[in-house]
Amino acid sequence: MPAIKMYNTMSRSVEDFKPIKPPSVGIYACGPTVYFYAHVGNMRAYVFEDVLRRALAHEGYLVTHVMNLTDVGHLASDADTGEDKLRSEATKEHKTMAQIADYYTKAFIDDISKLNILMPTRIVKASDHINDMLALIESLDSKGYIYQIKDANAGWYFDTSKFKDYGKLSGHTFAELNSTQQAGARVDRPSGLKNITDFAVWRLADESVKEMVWDSKFGRGFPGWHIECSAMSMKYLGNTFDIHCGGIDHIPIHHTNEIAQSESATGSKFVNYWFHVNFLTVNGEKMSKSKGNIYSMDDIAKKGYTPIAYRYFLLTSHYRSQQNFTFDALTNSQNTLNSIYAVVQKLSKVSSKFSKSDKSTIEYAENCRVKFFSAISNDFNTPEAIAAMHDLLSKSAGLVENSDIGVDAASGVLNVLMDFDSVLGIGLDNYTKARELPEGAAELIKERDSARGLKDFAKADQLRKELEEKFGIIIEDSNEGTHWYFKAK
Ligand code: AMP
Ligand code: ZN
Repeated sequence: MPAIKMYNTMSRSVEDFKPIKPPSVGIYACGPTVYFYAHVGNMRAYVFEDVLRRALAHEGYLVTHVMNLTDVGHLASDADTGEDKLRSEATKEHKTMAQIADYYTKAFIDDISKLNILMPTRIVKASDHINDMLALIESLDSKGYIYQIKDANAGWYFDTSKFKDYGKLSGHTFAELNSTQQAGARVDRPSGLKNITDFAVWRLADESVKEMVWDSKFGRGFPGWHIECSAMSMKYLGNTFDIHCGGIDHIPIHHTNEIAQSESATGSKFVNYWFHVNFLTVNGEKMSKSKGNIYSMDDIAKKGYTPIAYRYFLLTSHYRSQQNFTFDALTNSQNTLNSIYAVVQKLSKVSSKFSKSDKSTIEYAENCRVKFFSAISNDFNTPEAIAAMHDLLSKSAGLVENSDIGVDAASGVLNVLMDFDSVLGIGLDNYTKARELPEGAAELIKERDSARGLKDFAKADQLRKELEEKFGIIIEDSNEGTHWYFKAK
């Protein structure tokens, strides 16, 4: 199998992936702030992080995937207003922050499970790691990287002028980021800030703040957002680790600040590969809560789409391109997914022992396997990989149609399809076992057959509808007779 090549935001180029301690690979992914349901745009980042993980595992790497949950609130949760959304949600709902965080954490875990995202090896809560963050802040303090501001935005701030190459991840210099033009755009910054790009590592809280607040040598308060991810990633993956992930919106500030803090504290390179997923858009605009153009996983389920149809939709675009969300596209994905499941079920039902073309069928499948994994290992090119899968699917659908495939060739094709699915995660294995017809379905199929025999097509159509609505069974008529299969669950 080909070695993995991946785009690294830091070098702005596709590089050969070389882990620090093969076969181990450490991946850190920025998780959600749990104050609301994640929207399907957020899910784009998590699905591709899952593909990254699965692709590495497929090549034999042992992946440790760490994801954080921001449950302490933070003042960057709304870049425009600086509002702490978790704190305000708790006040609005008359709940504690912990209750809000708990509720949305469960909803998040539920969503990612439905999307067939493998559970991260560790899901870590910010509130459980305050001491790790304080230790990191102490180390920054002892090296002279932080200073105190005592006004309304009281707290401890990182002096970005002291970090060499601040801004390198987004390809900017410290001077550019602190230009007068930038100063004009960032009027909301606290007075006393030495540089526009400086950011809080610890915010002091007044007595009115009762929850998610900690005593520390820096005063009573709570952590800045960026320090969370620096502390938790290094705790579980080491001072230098392999891959750090997130959406592209995290490049200029969140990840840039993580690098500055982590490298200043340890003196070592923080991360070797930066993996960033581009935006899901609606009418060309980023899907985001503040724009009001969001859909949750629940919203799309209510419209009758399966979560895996959404996952499939995501896989049809490369993770570094923008992808526009429309319900028409989702409908297409759902239909395509149903037809993929149909072919898998047909292959599982093949019973003839042998066909002359079996040898070439197996060769064809192996060829598709090579194409598929070359695409995946070339910076996780899922659209190209999916094209290779469809090649194999349509070839085998044709063979089944013509009864030109034996059991061994069919199971060879299925084996290759399952290999694809170990990376795509679209649930093909749910359709490989020839499932029994549910009670009552066989009678309806028979009834429909006789209606067709009697050329009562209206009745046949009505029975076809009934089978689909009641049992999720799709009927297909061909020269060979009537076939049935289950559609996506
Ligand atoms: P947040 O809770 O805003 O930090 O977002 C959680 C993850 O989703 C981060 O990795 C974001 O970069 C990512 N994200 C947010 N909005 C979108 C979007 N519209 N498309 C893709 N990823 C997004
Ligand atoms: Zn983060």
